[in-house]
Amino acid sequence: MLEQPEKGTKSLVDGSLKKDGKLEPTHPSLNAEKTVAVSPAEHSPWTIEQSEELYRINGWGDPYFSINAAGHVTVSPRGDRGGSLDLYELVNALRQRNLNLPLLIRFSDILEDRIERLNAAFAKAIARYNYGGVYKGVFPVKCNQQRHLVEDLVRFGRPHQFGLEAGSKPELMIALATLKTPGALLICNGYKDREYIEMAILAQQLGRTAIVVLEQIEEVDIVIQASSELGIHPVVGVRAKLSSKGIGRWGTSAGDRAKFGLTIPEILTTVEKLRAAGMLDSLQLLHYHIGSQISSIAVVKDAIREASQIYVELAKLGATMKYLDVGGGLGVDYDGSKTNFYASKNYNVQNYANDIVAEVKEACTERKLPVPTLISESGRAIASHQSVLVFDVLGTSDAPTSPPESLQAGEHLIVQNLYETYQSISVENYQEMYHDATQFKEEAISLFNFGYLSLPERARAERLYWSCCEKILNIVRQQEYVPDDLEDLEKIMASIYYVNLSVFQSAPDSWAIDQLFPIMPIHRLTEEPTKRATLADLTCDSDGKIDQFIDLYDVKHVLELHPIKPGDPYYLGMFLNGAYQEIMGNLHNLFGDTNAVHIALTPNGYRIDHVVKGDTMTEVLGYVQYDSEDLVESIRQQTEQALQEKRITLQESQLLLQNYERSLSRYTYLSA
Ligand SMILES: *Cc1c(COP(=O)(O)O)cnc(C)c1O
Repeated sequence: MLEQPEKGTKSLVDGSLKKDGKLEPTHPSLNAEKTVAVSPAEHSPWTIEQSEELYRINGWGDPYFSINAAGHVTVSPRGDRGGSLDLYELVNALRQRNLNLPLLIRFSDILEDRIERLNAAFAKAIARYNYGGVYKGVFPVKCNQQRHLVEDLVRFGRPHQFGLEAGSKPELMIALATLKTPGALLICNGYKDREYIEMAILAQQLGRTAIVVLEQIEEVDIVIQASSELGIHPVVGVRAKLSSKGIGRWGTSAGDRAKFGLTIPEILTTVEKLRAAGMLDSLQLLHYHIGSQISSIAVVKDAIREASQIYVELAKLGATMKYLDVGGGLGVDYDGSKTNFYASKNYNVQNYANDIVAEVKEACTERKLPVPTLISESGRAIASHQSVLVFDVLGTSDAPTSPPESLQAGEHLIVQNLYETYQSISVENYQEMYHDATQFKEEAISLFNFGYLSLPERARAERLYWSCCEKILNIVRQQEYVPDDLEDLEKIMASIYYVNLSVFQSAPDSWAIDQLFPIMPIHRLTEEPTKRATLADLTCDSDGKIDQFIDLYDVKHVLELHPIKPGDPYYLGMFLNGAYQEIMGNLHNLFGDTNAVHIALTPNGYRIDHVVKGDTMTEVLGYVQYDSEDLVESIRQQTEQALQEKRITLQESQLLLQNYERSLSRYTYLSA
């Protein structure tokens, strides 16, 4: 497994260290707890500001997501440049067009805004440091390969000569066909064979600036051979394994033993081989990538410092260096805490651009070298914000905690013990009583297993246990300090909200690497969320759940939600999930791709640019080689036989076949 990031400590941008893990008394979710215990008449109504604080939407959502007076999440796809949409209204309008939940909504204006911001930050840094070169970013296609998104990206990036980065042969195919922007770069990374390299070199004849980045020492000879046979002089780069390491989840992407890149001795060998082939002038780019979601600016600085030195040294060795490509890693603040926590980052895009520009300028000025064109391969920072997954809650389950009925004469001793424990719980002894209750419950189960307790008695004992837990939890919530052994109580007592989604399909990183995405209701935000819940998805997998949520301090294990009202849909949104999730999602339990729509802001509202229907059952069954006609035929034959043997009526057999056939063309998720 991947290295676990350090949890519980977040340091702010100014370097001051926050308390680890523990909720402070002023913490919004704790305040929310307290108001729960107060009778409705006494507490003031819940405000939008309280919702903002609780879900931290201003931290991670600014400037795209906020809450309006109606208590709905609103989307401002152009950021500060005006125009907004009510997300709840939008979802209702889309549902009326038969676009069922779960629904992935992409806001192309957000994508454009991200590109603008990144380019503006570099432009500002270039002006500020009087840098004599330009910035030409590229989008790493692996981050989100969806055609509409890549096409939008190329279109929005045109004014900035924004290019694409391919990390594999199929991605190169996309990039070659899609990127037609004059002057934009096409960075060719990843493992390469002869065919890949030839295509990249030949792309130059189409007017593309395709740069073949050598990542493996074996690739040098292939490039030399291919270019001499084609008679075309390629533009070549080298990916360096830096010794500065990233931190956290992707920290191992760099360092001497990293999977990709050339070590310093290998880079020297490459230089010599190119020199011997008379191709040293082809070597024009230095690239590094130290991992994704770099949460600390110190790491960014270390890496650019080392890379700048390698860059100037390569120039000194005779390479005609022109480009410095700093790779990906520009982080996203998923929890809005602005810290170096793994779900956050302690810098902004401007800090990032400033540090890169300043460092490179300094290294080049010292050696009296012209500065390079700067390239970043920022994927996460560009694609995350543009999509929102909206899903509904199908049902909930609570711990059974009605106030216990009084003790009857002759009840089992263990039931008596639990009842007395319940009665005696107080602020003075709640910790001890929790241990007693737990022990009695375990005893009750042993007694049952040995036949000394009936099923109704066991049910009574379990209900008493849950009542004890609830009473203790109400006391715990009033305390400023929660004893360690009671920390899990909130989680044990949490409601389970069953949600219409597959974590494996829509948020694979939440399951695979515990990544945090902001999740919150998109409506009812003027109401107090009185429930504490974890989310359980549609799959039959016990890992198909979400029980880690963003928080200002560390991570919280329950999410504050509203009680669901029968007949009224309750919509939740998962935000910032536009990078990596879609393509890494899988078909666990055969839940397919969700419906997706592309929304563009217009002067009078919005326009639906594209609708990409989610997978049907026929499609997902096809992935595992079931032919739907064969399946229908099998059912037909079975009903025929049952009819002959008079086990089924004609009407029943028709109903079964109809349902079966209709389902095949349907969405794999549940319809509300
Ligand atoms: C994954 C990857 C990126 C994108 O990284 P982000 O952190 O998403 O910006 C860029 N370059 C390379 C070589 C990568 O492998």
